[in-house]
Amino acid sequence: MVATKMTFAVLLSLMFAISLIIIYFNKQHIANEENKIYKSLIISNAIGLILHIICDFVSYNYDTVPVFISTIFLKSLLIYYFLFGIFLLVYLIVISDFKNKNIYYKILKCVGILSIAAIIILPQNLVINKTNMIFYTNGLDTKFVFLISGALITAMSSIVLFRFKHLEKKKIIPLIVFLIFVVASTAIQRKYPDIVFTDCIETVVILLMYFTIENPDLAMIEQLNIAKDQADKANEAKSDFLSNMSHEIRTPLNAIIGFSQALQEEELPASAKEEVDDIMMASQGLLEIVNGILDISKIESGKIEIVNKEYSFKEVFDDLVILTKSRMGDKPLEFKTSYDDSIPHVLYGDNTRVKQVILNILTNAVKYTKEGYIDFRVSSIVRDDICRLIISVEDSGIGIKEENIDKLFSKFQRLDLDKNITIEGTGLGLAITKKLVDIMGGKIVVQSIYGKGSKFTIAIDQRVIHKEITEAAPVEDKININANTDFTGKNILIVDDNKINLKVASRLLQNYKANTITVDSGVECLEKIKAGEKYDLILLDDMMPKMSGVETLTNLKQIEGFNIPTVALTANAIEGMKEKYLASGFDDYLAKPIDKLELNKIIVKYLNK
Ligand code: ADP
Repeated sequence: MVATKMTFAVLLSLMFAISLIIIYFNKQHIANEENKIYKSLIISNAIGLILHIICDFVSYNYDTVPVFISTIFLKSLLIYYFLFGIFLLVYLIVISDFKNKNIYYKILKCVGILSIAAIIILPQNLVINKTNMIFYTNGLDTKFVFLISGALITAMSSIVLFRFKHLEKKKIIPLIVFLIFVVASTAIQRKYPDIVFTDCIETVVILLMYFTIENPDLAMIEQLNIAKDQADKANEAKSDFLSNMSHEIRTPLNAIIGFSQALQEEELPASAKEEVDDIMMASQGLLEIVNGILDISKIESGKIEIVNKEYSFKEVFDDLVILTKSRMGDKPLEFKTSYDDSIPHVLYGDNTRVKQVILNILTNAVKYTKEGYIDFRVSSIVRDDICRLIISVEDSGIGIKEENIDKLFSKFQRLDLDKNITIEGTGLGLAITKKLVDIMGGKIVVQSIYGKGSKFTIAIDQRVIHKEITEAAPVEDKININANTDFTGKNILIVDDNKINLKVASRLLQNYKANTITVDSGVECLEKIKAGEKYDLILLDDMMPKMSGVETLTNLKQIEGFNIPTVALTANAIEGMKEKYLASGFDDYLAKPIDKLELNKIIVKYLNK
């Protein structure tokens, strides 16, 4: 079975095989099954080709080389032919994604050991015709290798045939090439037993396989990972920067909004009143931008958290109606609202986020509708304990061009600018809305006729809590204008490291006629309480040097008999912060810039006790 005529072709194949080994091993590879078996294939092929050349040599010099040496090499070559077939079958099993691969591996291992033993034991017969330079083996061992190779080829063909749908097409090309050429070479070999080029075909096959195996360059992946880490760090730095910047911007905004709110209540000349209103509107707009940037950066850095809890849908709905009405001002708009009575009273989900996304859509409807109507409807589909809220907001506004609908949810995309240039906006609202709806597992769709109006529909699943609301909506959560606001004799301690913030808070509290005492550090606050000073409420800033608000509160709680309601007063106003502060032991939370109505709720709630 050895032909010297073939030596040249074998040498050429060996050169290819060695080059392939150098190229392959010069790269790092993921240690998956496919790569492991591919390594066995290329190494065994090179060994097979070397054996082939040695066998040519020992056959040609059969009269000088001892018989046992030529027998060892000739049998080793037969073992190689068989093993290559086994490796290829294993490769096919790997890429076929069989369920019980290990069973097949075990069977192949047994077949392998038994077959190698048979090749070693069975007699060999070397046919030599030196005149015509023909050398080959045709003993029982050779016939056995033909037989077992036939079985392996049949197994491979069946797998390719029956698992064709599951196989990656590019990966079966080398195998099909192998099957076709091996059958052809066997046919040729039957006629010319000394023409053996199976190992050369095998070199071609592993060369083809090189381009089809999962062979990512690990060095490149490593570089990509480094680049990704750097990008992640840069993104984190950006988020931190934005969060700090938002905090820094909030402090002066707190002063602008706080003092403007106070001024709005003063008796001012008409022109000054109008200017104060404008300052208020501009600073509210700026605050919205800061909040939007903060939200999108949190979402993008994956730091946004969905905080689920039980809530009353009716309360969310009512709040949304009040807020939208206040945004409509005196625009000639009819605001139609309705919700299904069948919506369960108590739901479980992130009410703050649900409210935020609906409010974004409602605010847009107000912004982009000059006249006509806004129709806000909520219906539900309840199945088992899941309630799908279907919220729709339809307006008779300017509408959206069809080609712009796809761009709607991209950040910083403001559409139809020639019409909207006078309407304030950042193009962040819908990007945030869409991302939040996605995070909550919901869907948002838009229908619009340009010039006629738009309809935004959101579907969000919330869990149903099977209980009725036992108490009416807490009074303190409602805007209670008629509640007693004269708190003469009550003492409020305000703690903030920023002098202007202290002034703003004191100014806003003036209306309540309570005593306000200010200190600019957590340490001073502790000293006052330890000294036995009595307060009815503490407004405590969090981000203070030396001792933060959270640390101050922890220390306060260690003072025996401490039970003064303490409200976190902070510019750290990202959505979800309220829950964080409540979890840290605060009784309530007030974001800076202080909103007059929010402040009113807190004062009425804690000083009326
Ligand atoms: P913006 O801050 O500009 O309102 P949004 O992300 O909320 O940002 O909206 C993006 C753009 O989508 C808007 O600039 C506007 O062109 C368009 N848009 C959003 N809602 C409506 C609506 N109800 N009617 C018409 N156009 C709308």
